[in-house]
Amino acid sequence: MSYVQPRADLASLPSYVPGRTIPGAIKLASNEVPAGPLPSVTKAIADAAAHAHRYPDSGAGELTARLAAKLGVPESRIAVGCGSVSLCQQLIQATCTERDEVLFAWRSFEAYPIVTHVVGAKQVRVPLTDDHALDLDAMLAAITPRTRLVFVCTPNNPTGTLVRKAELDRFIEAVPSNVLVVLDEAYFEFVTDPDATDGIDYLRERDNVAVLRTFSKAYGLAGLRVGYCVTSEEVATAVRKVYVPFSVNHLAQAAAIASLDAEQELFERVLEIKDERIRVRDELVAAGYDVPETQANFVWLPLGDRTAAFNEHCLANKLVVRAFAGEGARVTISTAEENDLFLAAAKSFSR
Ligand code: PMP
Repeated sequence: MSYVQPRADLASLPSYVPGRTIPGAIKLASNEVPAGPLPSVTKAIADAAAHAHRYPDSGAGELTARLAAKLGVPESRIAVGCGSVSLCQQLIQATCTERDEVLFAWRSFEAYPIVTHVVGAKQVRVPLTDDHALDLDAMLAAITPRTRLVFVCTPNNPTGTLVRKAELDRFIEAVPSNVLVVLDEAYFEFVTDPDATDGIDYLRERDNVAVLRTFSKAYGLAGLRVGYCVTSEEVATAVRKVYVPFSVNHLAQAAAIASLDAEQELFERVLEIKDERIRVRDELVAAGYDVPETQANFVWLPLGDRTAAFNEHCLANKLVVRAFAGEGARVTISTAEENDLFLAAAKSFSR
């Protein structure tokens, strides 16, 4: 009897491992913000729910127009997607065939190797520096005639490190113009370093840059799945072509628009997280942990072989962190109270 055979190469593909939710435990595993939606955003979602019998606007026209006005770019250069992770995949689908290479630092965002494999392109990983930062010189050296796309995650997930402007200017200048540089700025709104970049600035002069941003982090809409990509008109058109129709539902679109209206209030919450991340890192460093300076809403603890034991210790203290076996743990910055519980656990861990 014949039976359906999934693609053989998928057998070796690891599944994306999401941060775990454990009843009764505090989740610090997915870089979410601790506060729920503002009342104005909840109302927009409820109003949109009344139209649930209708398909959403597949082109997310109103949201796109709002983003275009906010960023000062034409609507034709924006593609809205079902979270920026979906846009990572769409960008590869839009630019790569099976012969092509996708380059990224490692460790970086876990989805890069997965979506690259799913599309069928070849992944090339470039190790981080000893300081847990992207090694842009090594990434440049790893570009081959087959490279079509390079992910530059800044701040980098999971290490929190930033690529500074001078370094990124040099990199983008040196990358061949037929290679798309994808600046993954999922944590853009948490950045305070004066030497940081605003990826949108590169778009004014370059056609081979794409900027990814999301409503999941600073805007607090991780559960609704909406992000966006700003790039050249040609690439944006191709990204929209490979979009699964209607995948950004209208509750998500309405919530994103309401969140743009409420930016000031939302960014006040972000200020608290920025203060807390300094406190958390300082206390961890004082307790003897090696924690790179972070520009995101999480800290990275490079614990090597002690990672699994640290993870167990956190679980025993009813804290869910994100452990990467043999490498380290990423811990989301939360409220002062939850951060205190994490710090107490970290301080009572014997290394
Ligand atoms: N890029 C980076 C660097 C991330 O850390 C994440 C989420 N963890 C994403 C993209 C995807 O976020 P979303 O799909 O929720 O927009």
